[in-house]
Amino acid sequence: MSWERQINLKTPAELKTMREAGRINATVLAAVKERLQPGVATTELNAAAEEVLKSHGCFSPFKGYGRPPFPASITVCINDEMVHGIPHPKRKLKEGDIVSIDCGTVYEGFVGDSAFTAGVGEISPEAAKLLEVTEGALYAGIANMRKGKRTGDVSAAIQNFVESCGFHVTREYTGHGVGRQMHEGPQVPNVGMTGTGTLLRPGMTIALEPMVLIGTHETRVLPDKWTVVSADGSLTAHFEHTIAVTEGEPLILTVL
Ligand code: MG
Ligand code: MG
Repeated sequence: MSWERQINLKTPAELKTMREAGRINATVLAAVKERLQPGVATTELNAAAEEVLKSHGCFSPFKGYGRPPFPASITVCINDEMVHGIPHPKRKLKEGDIVSIDCGTVYEGFVGDSAFTAGVGEISPEAAKLLEVTEGALYAGIANMRKGKRTGDVSAAIQNFVESCGFHVTREYTGHGVGRQMHEGPQVPNVGMTGTGTLLRPGMTIALEPMVLIGTHETRVLPDKWTVVSADGSLTAHFEHTIAVTEGEPLILTVL
């Protein structure tokens, strides 16, 4: 069975473990965020993440993932790079860059998955708006992560939020269920129609991750076979949280 179809409802005990995985992932991201300064190499950011993971006895499911195996514990994307950027010692942050960091944490067999985008020093008003819209889209999606809603309601909320702000949202890259595996069902695209898709039920844990582009929604993959960039070179941003559907309010697992 392909990962999109395998939905695993979590027990309360499993949700507690996932909350801890999410908390540790948030700690990792906070440590990396502190280091977003001009002159810092993207591999230094990866090293900082690995230090925090190790101090909690955890590791990232990113390392060794896929073909060719992803070589780092975090992905680092600068400006037009949208997702899956590979850290490199020669790639250094510059004043005015926007940087997306995505990390996963495996804790007691369960995965926490989250990402953020932030500026290095002073950024342009357009870049600042892009960050605000992308994070806003994530929370518009989270507000729909309720028992009785459908994945299409979440997708539509993300798409409508982004497009009403004049930006574009990716078609090819989606949110996903998460648990013992980094990718489980249901798949949650960043575009969709209300009233369609999988019914949300308590115990579902889903990583929502809007990826927003200023120019068009089109992307391409660089020859390294990982880094996804905007096709037109325009700025992109990415925010992600892992969220549990409950009997009541959505529960964000990947916060401190
Ligand atoms: Mg992620
Ligand atoms: Mg994810």
